[in-house]
Amino acid sequence: MNLVEDCIFCKIVKGEIPCQKIYEDNKILVFLDINPVHKGHTLIIPKEHHEGIIDMPDDTLGELAKVAKKISKAVKKATGVAGFNIVQNNGADAGQDVFHFHMHIIPRLKGDGLGMWPHQKLPEEEMKDIQEAIIKSIE
Ligand code: AMP
Repeated sequence: MNLVEDCIFCKIVKGEIPCQKIYEDNKILVFLDINPVHKGHTLIIPKEHHEGIIDMPDDTLGELAKVAKKISKAVKKATGVAGFNIVQNNGADAGQDVFHFHMHIIPRLKGDGLGMWPHQKLPEEEMKDIQEAIIKSIE
């Protein structure tokens, strides 16, 4: 298995540091976030070290999505929340602190005031240009 020496999540996978485990199978580990946004904040990781979504093998990514659905249901039931976010940061500029792929399941409380990010209107031409550029970049 591809593991990285100084990666904190690889250390959790190897059992070198503890975690509050929720679920595991042969490819995936799920545990509580050590500094939860709200009670029940959970992380889903592949056991193999991959930095972000672009580096993830498609089959593992598919399995992570299935586990995310299963565990979201459990988090929702256990916490009693009506809503939750699934967040997955890619790169330091996007707020990624641990460079081992992970998905957050964050239970949300009504009126918790956390929001996400502000939206804006862009000129039509700019929208069209970026639409075309993204379409052309699909591999
Ligand atoms: P991100 O900013 O998306 O890279 O998120 C990294 C997350 O990992 C943060 O929410 C941290 O609280 C969490 N975290 C860091 N170290 C640990 C750890 N040892 N056990 C559980 N969660 C951790």
